[in-house]
Amino acid sequence: MSISTTDAQNIWHPFTQSYGAALPIPIVSAKGLYLYKENGDKVLDAVSSWWTSIHGHCHPYIAQKIAEQASTLDHVIFAGFTHPKAVELSQKILKHLPSAYSKVFFSDDGSTAVEVGIKMALQYWSNIGKPKRKIIAFKESYHGDTFGAMSVGDRNEFTAPFHSMLFEVHFIQAPFKGFEEEALQQLSATIDNETAAFIFEPLLMGTAGMKMYSAEVLDKMISICESKNVLTIADEVLTGFYRTGEFFAIHQLKNIPSIVCLSKGITGGTMALGATVCESFIYDAFVSEDKFKTFFHGHSYTANAIACAAACANFELLEKEECKLKIKNICDWQLQWTSEMKKNKVLKEARSIGTVVALELSTSNESSYFEPIRDKIYNHFIGRNILLRPLGNVIYVLPPYCIEKEELDYLYNEITLFLNDIHEENRK
Ligand SMILES: *Cc1c(COP(=O)(O)O)cnc(C)c1O
Repeated sequence: MSISTTDAQNIWHPFTQSYGAALPIPIVSAKGLYLYKENGDKVLDAVSSWWTSIHGHCHPYIAQKIAEQASTLDHVIFAGFTHPKAVELSQKILKHLPSAYSKVFFSDDGSTAVEVGIKMALQYWSNIGKPKRKIIAFKESYHGDTFGAMSVGDRNEFTAPFHSMLFEVHFIQAPFKGFEEEALQQLSATIDNETAAFIFEPLLMGTAGMKMYSAEVLDKMISICESKNVLTIADEVLTGFYRTGEFFAIHQLKNIPSIVCLSKGITGGTMALGATVCESFIYDAFVSEDKFKTFFHGHSYTANAIACAAACANFELLEKEECKLKIKNICDWQLQWTSEMKKNKVLKEARSIGTVVALELSTSNESSYFEPIRDKIYNHFIGRNILLRPLGNVIYVLPPYCIEKEELDYLYNEITLFLNDIHEENRK
């Protein structure tokens, strides 16, 4: 029996309605920018496999470090024990963050990194004897699929079956261009003495449709929170590791969020790992003779040694001059293409930040993930062995940094041809 049919018998896939769906495509190997099918055909991975791949697939250096670690120390319980790669990784993470941050808490993925951030913030207030419960987040935000992460995310079709079980969160307008004042006003109006924390995706809101906003307005929002004693949680699960052009998106800010959540690109896209980093004063509130002030949170695979080794290798590669230069080039190419695409007639908007470009197609009604155009775009490109996974009517290019100019040009050309076809169809 083929891989696909056995898969269909046994496996339940994420974000997939199997009714009427095409069988999943078996991928048997990967290298750099490409995923290889059983018949040897290669698929161009223009979305970095759900935003995780940083240097491209199966990078030899990361693979080597994983192999070495797997035969040295695979895993050790992280309560009461530690290991060299977790320590090395903590140093590497903290080195790239302002000195106000002092502690790294490891978990499994983006959702758990966010859960940890929320729990740290809430327990911080309890531990210092001023319990506060209210959390503020942006409308349209996405922070993961576990209950806490879902609670701080936008209420929409995806979360509808659980709405009555999600804890209350106060949603405010995100500060997209033209909405800055509204967002600032809503933040000020929503904060009260009960407000514990404000959580946000800095500068780039991926799942919302690769929507962007300025560092300037986010700085103002963090200042407001600081002045009113509200903790700030930056969810850098997508934006970390140069996605927005800087190592972390918060490097474009003057203010320092209290807590930073990392995952996705942290291991270069090889192993599942989450990390939540906090400022010293937060950690200090958990250090006490009182045992009940302990942060009682942990996962079986916390700080898995193989994942930490992969992450250390990822950091080493990112610190190389040639890698930084390559990223800078990708940012330039993406920006250049964006300015060309601004003239395209079927687009409502072309926007970019760092290594990411998003093209929003004009559609008759309010855009949504479930828009038929989404399937049409996906099927068109996958039929041409290009993996683009549009968010509703938004096509985005979020490539691994191994991509060459010729490969990007090929992608740009394919997308432009597709848009030209749409333009022709619209005229009929
Ligand atoms: C993907 C994502 C998450 C969730 O990460 P998982 O590893 O899928 O659990 C959280 N926040 C943001 C901003 C993300 O893009």
